[in-house]
Amino acid sequence: GEINGIMAIVADITERKQSEAKINYLAYHDTLTGLPNRVSFEERLAEAVANAASEDKSLAVMFLSLDRFKKFNDTLGHLIGDQLLKSVAERLTLTLREGNRVARFGSDEFAFLLPGITEAEDAAGRASDFKNVLDAPFIVEGHELYVTSSIGIGLYPEDGTDAQGLLKSAGAALYRAKQLGGSSYQFYTADMNERALQRLALENQLRWALERKEFVVYYQPQVSIDTGQIRGMEALVRWQHPELGLIPPAEFIPLAEDTGLILPIGEWVLRTACAQTKIWQDCGFNNLHVAVNLSPRQFQQTDLVLMIERLLKETNLDAPSLELEVTESSVMKNAESAINTLRELRRMGIKISIDDFGSGYSSLSYLRHLPIDVLKIDQSFVRDMTSDPKDAAIVMAIIQLAHSLQLQVKAEGVETEEQLRFLRLLRCDEMQGYLFCKALPVEAFEQLLFEGRTLSTMKDARLTLTTQPAKAN
Ligand code: C2E
Ligand code: MG
Ligand code: MG
Repeated sequence: GEINGIMAIVADITERKQSEAKINYLAYHDTLTGLPNRVSFEERLAEAVANAASEDKSLAVMFLSLDRFKKFNDTLGHLIGDQLLKSVAERLTLTLREGNRVARFGSDEFAFLLPGITEAEDAAGRASDFKNVLDAPFIVEGHELYVTSSIGIGLYPEDGTDAQGLLKSAGAALYRAKQLGGSSYQFYTADMNERALQRLALENQLRWALERKEFVVYYQPQVSIDTGQIRGMEALVRWQHPELGLIPPAEFIPLAEDTGLILPIGEWVLRTACAQTKIWQDCGFNNLHVAVNLSPRQFQQTDLVLMIERLLKETNLDAPSLELEVTESSVMKNAESAINTLRELRRMGIKISIDDFGSGYSSLSYLRHLPIDVLKIDQSFVRDMTSDPKDAAIVMAIIQLAHSLQLQVKAEGVETEEQLRFLRLLRCDEMQGYLFCKALPVEAFEQLLFEGRTLSTMKDARLTLTTQPAKAN
């Protein structure tokens, strides 16, 4: 009786001790890789900084992040993504030297603590070691996977005198490495902090901008090269910032992409553009169509088709008046599901155009299978086609390709008469560019419409073209 009772108590205590140890372990480790986690790392770092301070020594903190890791998860599934992370963790652990520590911070983010590093060159050398050890392919369930990584480096005491300061610096340096295209390491520099702060400020303001109605849509005419008439327009968003003035999309769309804010902003642009087009159609410009850009993230949004269907209903615009511009890379990122989405959109009657065609990886074999309507020749080819025979050849090829695939072709960035003449010779369908007009706010665009402005009323380009007879309008 009594012995059994004591045994039961002992067993109970052992079990409790074990589960305490387990909880303790879990609190300080990452369950997937078994590496220490962020909490553990930050404690060690604080200790190391205190030691370095009292002994007048230096140390390095590094962040390593795998480039485009999401791609593996998205294409091969999370199980394989997890396996890959485990193998990465193993290789990184093997490159540690005495006193070094590595931890897993976020999904594909690892942190290193390297005490005793005094010179930037030493830090660079160690960063190269970490990068290089990931060079050989990883074999995961029969897949041969290649990864590259970006590394941000913060040095004590130059880049921060406490744990949080160092982490922030290494983080900013990592961000910079990523922005530069990945597969590199970057040191923290003081003006990086400045830039990181500016970005943060802009990001915060971007969060509010929609609510504060600071976005405006400009419209750039798309003109028929044959008749010279305005066929439609591309909707181009701008940010009317209260202090900084009109900010072009190139300066905030990438930020909006990174933060996910592109989803509500993009939806607002679509709604605004559809509603405005409907207004103009009701004024008598019945055949006007509107082209709206979709960013990669928007395009991958799961309820995209439903959202667009709802917007069309809400604004009363018929589907064939709407054209969506996507880029090749955003389609190729996840080709299977992209093709399904495009198919559904087209089934509704919406037109699809490939923006900046020729600037990404053009996969011609895929092009044949893509459910699309229009190719937009990238500006860079248009810009140089009248001076560089190679660009002329590319433009010619794109137009022929488009037409033999029964696609419409539009040229953007048309700035000179000479470019227009060349495009007309090649029978390009529509043009868009400063030669005719920049993107305009609503009232100014409206004025163009009411004036009935056409390519030929500006200055009859066809008169200067001798190889093709002028047609009566
Ligand atoms: P994009 O879709 O390729 O738009 C064409 C860009 O070329 C526009 O710049 C337009 O103003 C400019 N452009 C037009 N004609 C000429 C010309 O003759 N010469 C030159 N040099 N440029 C010309 P913008 O408005 O600054 O837009 C830049 C990019 O920002 C767009 O490129 C598009 O990718 C993106 N963007 C604009 N609005 C939106 C939006 O609502 N949503 C998303 N996701 N992206 C947008
Ligand atoms: Mg576009
Ligand atoms: Mg474009």
